[in-house]
Amino acid sequence: MSIPQNLQQIKSQLPEQVTLVAVSKTKPIEAIQEAYNTGQRIFGENKIQEMTQKWEVLPKDIKWHMIGNLQRNKVKYMAEYVSLIHGVDSLKLLKEINKQAKKHKRVIGCLLQIKIAQEDTKAGMTPEEAYELLNSEELLSLENININGLMGMATFTSDENQVASEFQVLKNTFNKLEPIRTTNCNLKTISMGMSGDYQLAIENGSNMIRIGSSIFGARNYVV
Ligand SMILES: *Cc1c(COP(=O)(O)O)cnc(C)c1O
Repeated sequence: MSIPQNLQQIKSQLPEQVTLVAVSKTKPIEAIQEAYNTGQRIFGENKIQEMTQKWEVLPKDIKWHMIGNLQRNKVKYMAEYVSLIHGVDSLKLLKEINKQAKKHKRVIGCLLQIKIAQEDTKAGMTPEEAYELLNSEELLSLENININGLMGMATFTSDENQVASEFQVLKNTFNKLEPIRTTNCNLKTISMGMSGDYQLAIENGSNMIRIGSSIFGARNYVV
C-alpha cells in the first residue's frame, strides 16, 4: 500500500486523544513530503543530523520530534526548531537542552524516558529516579524546558502479556508522577507504542504513538 493509504488506515482506527508521530528515520524527503501532503504534521527522527537536514528543506510547519538516544554535544543543532524530545533521561541532559533553548528564546518540550523493558539494551530512568528528578530544586530553575510527559519502549518480543505489563508500568508511573505540577512540569503525554504494538499500547493508556514501518514500509537497515 502507498504512504497515504497506510496513514489513512492507521488514523481511521485511532481514538481521538491519540497523537500519531510518523517516524521517518532513514526515509527520504519525498516520502515525508508525501505524508505531509495528506495532512500529517508530526514526524519523528532518531538522529539529530539527519533530522536537521530534513528540517532545512521541508515545510516549516512540521513539528519535529527527536525520539532517539541523545548525545549532549549535539543538542545545539536542533535547539532552534525541535518541538518535542522523547528520550530525556537525566538532569544533565535537561540542563543542556535548557541552555540551548535559551539561546533561541524557546521553550522545548521534553518527555522523560522510563525504562520499562526487561532487556538491558533499552535506555531510560527508573520510576524512582524520575520521581526524584521531578521533585528536585534544580529543575525549577530551568525556564526553557517543559516536561510534558513520559516515554517508554517495551521489550521486543511476541509475548503480548509481557509487552502489556510493561506498558502498564509506564501508565502507573505516569499516574504517580502526574500530580507533580511545577512551572516547567505538567505531565500530559504518554508516548508508547510502535508499529508492532501500538494497539496494545493504546489499550494500556498511550496517547502518543510512534509509527515508522507501518507508514513508510520496512527500513533497509537496523537503526
Ligand atoms: C524506529 C522507532 C520507532 C518506530 O518503529 P516502527 O517499528 O518502525 O514503527 C518508534 N520509536 C522509536 C524510539 C524508534 O526508534
